[in-house]
Amino acid sequence: MSEISGQTFDYIIVGAGSAGCVLANRLSEDPRNSVLLLEAGGPDSNPWIHVPVGYFKTLHNPETDWCYRTEPDPNLGGRSLDWPRGKTLGGSSSINGLLYIRGHRTDFDQWRQLGNTGWSFEDVLPYFKRAEDQERGADDYHGKGGPLGVSNMRIHREICDRFIDAAEEIGIPRRDDFNGAEMEGAGYFQLTARDGRRCSTAVGYLHPIKHRKNLTIVTHAHTKRVLFEDKRASGIAFDRNGTPETVNARREVILAAGTIGSPQIMMLSGAGPAEQMKRHGIDIKADLIGVGANLQDHLQTRMIFKTTKPITLNDQLRNPIRKFAMGVEYALTRTGPLSMGASQVCAFVRSREELEAPDIQFHVQPLSADKPGEGTHKFSAFTSSTCQLRPESRGRIELKSASPHDYPAIHPNYLATELDRWTVIEGIKISRKIMAASPMASVIASEHLPGTHVQSDDELLAAAREISQTIYHPVGTCKMGQDPTAVVDDQLRVHGLEGLRIVDASVMPTLTSGNTNAPTIMIAEKASDMILGRD
Ligand SMILES: Cc1cc2nc3c(=O)[nH]c(=O)nc-3n(C[C@H](O)[C@H](O)[C@H](O)COP(=O)(O)OP(=O)(O)OC[C@H]3O[C@@H](n4cnc5c(N)ncnc54)[C@H](O)[C@@H]3O)c2cc1C
Repeated sequence: MSEISGQTFDYIIVGAGSAGCVLANRLSEDPRNSVLLLEAGGPDSNPWIHVPVGYFKTLHNPETDWCYRTEPDPNLGGRSLDWPRGKTLGGSSSINGLLYIRGHRTDFDQWRQLGNTGWSFEDVLPYFKRAEDQERGADDYHGKGGPLGVSNMRIHREICDRFIDAAEEIGIPRRDDFNGAEMEGAGYFQLTARDGRRCSTAVGYLHPIKHRKNLTIVTHAHTKRVLFEDKRASGIAFDRNGTPETVNARREVILAAGTIGSPQIMMLSGAGPAEQMKRHGIDIKADLIGVGANLQDHLQTRMIFKTTKPITLNDQLRNPIRKFAMGVEYALTRTGPLSMGASQVCAFVRSREELEAPDIQFHVQPLSADKPGEGTHKFSAFTSSTCQLRPESRGRIELKSASPHDYPAIHPNYLATELDRWTVIEGIKISRKIMAASPMASVIASEHLPGTHVQSDDELLAAAREISQTIYHPVGTCKMGQDPTAVVDDQLRVHGLEGLRIVDASVMPTLTSGNTNAPTIMIAEKASDMILGRD
C-alpha cells in the first residue's frame, strides 16, 4: 500500500490527458483545495514526446499508446483499425499531431441549440482564449500568456505552397488563421508547440505547477471503478503496479479518461446501459443508456500522389546525410522537418454552396507512407487526406468483460449513412480538382492511391472503404444533454448521480469541425469554472 491509499481529497481527477491536466492546474490554483490526479500511464519522460515529429516513435508504442483496435467494421470491408490513444502524462496531447484547430462557430452554437446552456460559440470563446499563448499575439479571437503554446509552422515546403496556390486557383481562398473570424480556405496549420517543442497539456498546464503542495499526481495508477455511497461518488478504486488501492473524494470525482476510458469506467462502476452491465454481473447504480453510445469520429481517406521532382520529405529521408542534417538543424535551431506537425497544410472546404460551414477538411503532408506513423515510401510522393467534418454515422463502445484490464469493444460504424458516403466521394473529387490545377499538375507524376483507374462513384466509395483510416478524433460516448441518451448535463454532472462529473472529449454531443484537442482543452477550462462555482 502506498502513502495515498485511504486518503481523502477534495477532488479526484481520473486521467491526466488533454482535459485532466487542465483540471489539475485550475482546481489546485486555490491552495485550500486538495487535488489528486490519477494516470494509468507513466511520466512523459520519453524524449520523442517532446519533439514534434516524435509521434512516429510514440504511436503504436505500448509505453505511450494504449494501442486500441476497433472491432471489424462491416462498412470498411470488415477491417479493424488501429485506434491510438495517449497513455502518459498529457494523454493524447502527448502523442497527437499538434494541429491546432478549434472548430467552426456553428459547432458550438449547435451544442447550445441542443439545449446546453452556456456552450454557444460566444460562451466558449473566452475559454479558448484563456488557454492560449498565441505566438502572433492577442486579438479578438486569440489569447496571449495562457498555458497552451500555439505557434506557426516553422517549415514551409514547395509542395505545400503549391497546394495552397492550386486550391486558390479553383476558388478556395487563402487562410492564414483557421481559428479567427472565418475558417474556410487553405493555408498552413498552427501547432500546439512552443519554441519548436510540443506543448502537451502536461507541458503547458502540469509541469509548471506540479510542486504545489495541494496537488498529488500518481502515475501507473489504473482506475478500476468509481466508489459510491448510495448515489454519491465517494472515491476511486485503482491498481498501482498490480496492488489494489482506494482513495476518497470529499467533493467530487471527475472522470477525464477520454472517449474510450470514461465510458468504460462508468460501466464498470455500474453507471451505463443496465442490460449490458447485467450481462457482465455488474451491480447497477444508474441505468444510463447513452454511456458508450453516440461514438463519432473523423474518417480520413488518404490520397497519395507521386511527384516528378524530388521535392518531398521522402527524398530527404532516403538520404542518410540529409537525414542527419535534419537532426542537426533541429538540435541547433528547433526548425526543419523535425519541428513539423502531423500535417503541414490544411484546407476547409464546402462540398455544396448552400452549406453554412465547411464540411470537408484536407490534411496535406509532404511525405507518404503505407500507414500513418510508418516508414516513408522510397519514391517521391506526398499525401492529401480528406475527411468529412460532421459525420452522421454513430458507433458505440461496449464492455467485453467486467475486468478493468480488458479493452472494451469499439464499433466505429463509419460510412453508415448516405450523406457520409456521398461526402467521402466528394472529398476525393475535390482533391483531384486541386491536383489538376496548374501549380500542382506541373509537379504530379501520377496518382498512386487510390489511382486514376478508380473513377465511378461506386469505385470511389469502394476504394474509400478499403483505404480509409481514423484521423484520431473519437468523441461523444458520454454526451452532454437532456434527452434520455444524454449522460451528463450542461454542467457536465452525471445524470442521476451525485458528486460525479465527466470532463473530456466524450461529453461532446456532436463532433467539432476539425481536430479535437483544442475543443477538449476548452471544455476542461470551462468545467473548472463550473466546478469552482465561477460559471
Ligand atoms: C495519434 C493522435 C493524433 C491526433 N492528432 C491531433 C491533432 O493533430 N490535433 C488535435 O487537435 N487533435 C488530435 N488528436 C485528438 C486529440 O489529441 C484528442 O481529441 C484529445 O487529446 C482528447 O483528450 P481527452 O482528455 O478526452 O483524452 P486523452 O487526452 O486521451 O486523455 C485520457 C487520459 O486518461 C488516461 N486513462 C484512460 N483510462 C484510464 C484509467 N482506467 N485509469 C487511469 N487513467 C486512464 C489515459 O492514459 C490518458 O492519459 C489526435 C489524437 C491521437 C491519438
